[in-house]
Amino acid sequence: MKKFFAGFGPFIILATVTGCSLLTSSDYPNNNESELNIPVPQPVQVRVANITDKTADKNVQLIKSVRGEFPLRIIHSNDTHSEFSKFPQHAKAIQNLRQNSEHSLLLDAGDFTSANVTQKEIDSLANAITMNFLNYDVVTLGNHEFDQGEGIWDHSALAGFIEKTNFPVLSANVDLSPNEHLSSLATYNFTENTGRGLIFNGLITEFDHEKVGIFGITIYEDFFDDPGNVNFNDYTTAAKEAVAYFEEAGINKIIGLTHIGVGNDRRLAAAVPEIDIIIGGHSHVPALPSDRANRIGDTLVLQTGSYYESLGQLDVVFNKEGKLIEFNGQLHPLEYFETDTEAEELLNHLNKSSEVVGIIPKETFESITISQHVLNSLLLKANHVSGQTDFSILPESSINGTLTSGEMTYGDILNLLPFYEKMIIIDVTGKQIKQTVTAFEQETNQQIYSSTNVDLTSITDDRIYQIVTTEEALNSHTSLAKLLINSKITKTEEIGFEIFIEYVQSFGM
Ligand SMILES: [Zn+2]
Repeated sequence: MKKFFAGFGPFIILATVTGCSLLTSSDYPNNNESELNIPVPQPVQVRVANITDKTADKNVQLIKSVRGEFPLRIIHSNDTHSEFSKFPQHAKAIQNLRQNSEHSLLLDAGDFTSANVTQKEIDSLANAITMNFLNYDVVTLGNHEFDQGEGIWDHSALAGFIEKTNFPVLSANVDLSPNEHLSSLATYNFTENTGRGLIFNGLITEFDHEKVGIFGITIYEDFFDDPGNVNFNDYTTAAKEAVAYFEEAGINKIIGLTHIGVGNDRRLAAAVPEIDIIIGGHSHVPALPSDRANRIGDTLVLQTGSYYESLGQLDVVFNKEGKLIEFNGQLHPLEYFETDTEAEELLNHLNKSSEVVGIIPKETFESITISQHVLNSLLLKANHVSGQTDFSILPESSINGTLTSGEMTYGDILNLLPFYEKMIIIDVTGKQIKQTVTAFEQETNQQIYSSTNVDLTSITDDRIYQIVTTEEALNSHTSLAKLLINSKITKTEEIGFEIFIEYVQSFGM
């Protein structure tokens, strides 16, 4: 097994040259290992904009699935550390990679927070909203997410990030129960597809009846920083427990989303061979399976560099038994991609987050729960778009917080509405609306927020009404998704926080 850990010489040199302080003692091999057969570092494969490889071709994917094989594309990032200048290229690269793949997952392996602790509050908002914009499927937490210091001695910013996410956050080995901000967000459980705004041990995601299990783990070594009152338990044990859970559930395709450093990733692969793929972070140097050192038994180990240098792509094919039969991993340096204009606009909003947008007069209201008010303004705007919208229907988790009168900055508004979701207008019958409300309450134990021009009790079964909702709401609730059957759907370009900015501006300064 020793020979698998032989690839560290070049990594140590690179890490030293770039002044990276993030490699920790556990990333260094012992002398016996480094003497063995040190491989020449593999050149990073560069593929730009148009990706045409055969594994990802949709026709090839179709042929494979007829044979009972399952092709999957994993798009991955790590250690972006709030360096947002390349975010618009990052968005474009993700779009390109998603376009020509039937089954894709977008994963982040942690340390999206800046190492500058004083940035935490603003980072928390910017990372939530940019990751929501990109529709990450799942992320794990890095050590820097837990850093404290320089006047920041709690985890309210991290809790704020998690509450705002429209995807599940994974952490299988961290005990968050002693922390007042994080304890209520941690489930210590596994989720299937949904689970925005909460922390889980793992996620089970499904494509055409093929289930994939993903778990998340994190390392913290408090040489420089202080994670406060959270406990980092043994990650190998947590990984073994997650694998046992997935296998018990009949899942034979398992991904570890880790923030433990590439050396520990390789050791983990050797200790828990049931893991098929490890998408990692923390080392700030790339790892690709074209380097033999990153293939441990049948397990592949990958990570990108850092600071949005490049985006990772791994195309794999699993056979019926869940064994990897093909793989191709590569990195795409982001400087070769065009910028995505919507992502650029979003960045502009974030850059002026401390600017005052308008002043909501005290006469309007003193303090109001954001839900009803936002919905009213969304409805008004949707009415403006469509001419005659009757209802807006949004689940509780689409909205967040309390609004008080007075000065409103861009940051205040983005904090209240961190979801980059475009409004959708659907024509439905009165009967469908009644059925949806009942089904939604059964599905979620929550009430739908329905802001309306028409009284919900007086709707007529066979009349056609127009409702406004979001794609995200429809995707994450089967009861709401049923509204789409045989309905006329109009997609708008209206985004919640932009509508709300206009609303606040209407009061003037
Ligand atoms: Zn790290």
